[in-house]
Amino acid sequence: MEHLLEVSNLEVNFKTYGGEVQAVRDVSFHVEKGEIMAIVGESGSGKSVTVQTIMDLIPTPPGKIKGGKILFQGKDLLKLSKKEMRKLKGSKISMVFQDPMTSLNPTMKVGKQIEESILNHQQVTKGQARKKAVEMIKLVGIPNPEERYHQYPHEFSGGMRQRAMIAIALACNPELLIADEPTTALDVTIQAQVLNLMKDLQEKTNTAIILITHDLGVVAETAQRVAVMYAGVIVETGSVEDIFESPKHPYTWGLLESIPNFEAEEKERLIPIEGSPPDLFNPPKGCPFAARCKYAMEVCVDHMPPEFEIENGHTAKCWLNDERAPKIHDLVAAGR
Ligand code: SF4
Ligand code: MG
Repeated sequence: MEHLLEVSNLEVNFKTYGGEVQAVRDVSFHVEKGEIMAIVGESGSGKSVTVQTIMDLIPTPPGKIKGGKILFQGKDLLKLSKKEMRKLKGSKISMVFQDPMTSLNPTMKVGKQIEESILNHQQVTKGQARKKAVEMIKLVGIPNPEERYHQYPHEFSGGMRQRAMIAIALACNPELLIADEPTTALDVTIQAQVLNLMKDLQEKTNTAIILITHDLGVVAETAQRVAVMYAGVIVETGSVEDIFESPKHPYTWGLLESIPNFEAEEKERLIPIEGSPPDLFNPPKGCPFAARCKYAMEVCVDHMPPEFEIENGHTAKCWLNDERAPKIHDLVAAGR
């Protein structure tokens, strides 16, 4: 069956004074109609660059899309003209950013902004668009929608602004919503509310969502499937159950261990993964995680692990999944 979105072998570089950064390396994943797919990774792992490439937001230069395909409903987005892409954005694919203040227009009433988004992408009268804008404000859980329609972004709280952004993004019934760290700037309670809202809306509207986050807790609460990114590479993909219950990549193990444990003493809460990610000007030819991995073997240093299929839809780029690799409990017993 055709996927809603299918990214294959995507490669994105950036030219800088210091050389060329390989920000996205051979990235492949797909999104099904109506699902929430999370891309999780540390900052600099290439998750934002990946979705910005999908949205045609990478300035070229300094960016350079070196290869790959992005099929959306069977069409390769990398082959569309700027005009065709603009048409698609906001009608079939839309995006929510981390900081709504940078994408909301501070001089325009919030309701008008939602209305404009509707008018830009749908064949409706002004009156119908206005009515729909009020409905959208209500749908995203903002009280007193009629009053709120007439207010400006600065009259909204951070959480309300993020809701307004989601309303704008959903106003034209997109097939795919891309949310890049949509709740990172919000405090924990508001964050949970906005995530619940997104989940709710996904169920109501059947819009597929790509959720970018550095927080596995957010993934567990929200997503159905996950791709774990490290140093520009997707190192593991699977269902939420696969990733949380039988992860097959040492980087994923490290991420899971670093989830705050609120029952533990303060100082034990976070176990950060030691070391830092590799230099993407000159990435290692083998496994990108090798320098930080306590299970690294000789093969890891010289050869990039292929994508091992663990079971249906669960894949990991780690040599430990090769049948010839030592079993993990042997490595642990040997003190590695
Ligand atoms: Fe560790 Fe090797 Fe697996 Fe990379 S391929 S994560 S270095 S065991
Ligand atoms: Mg980012």
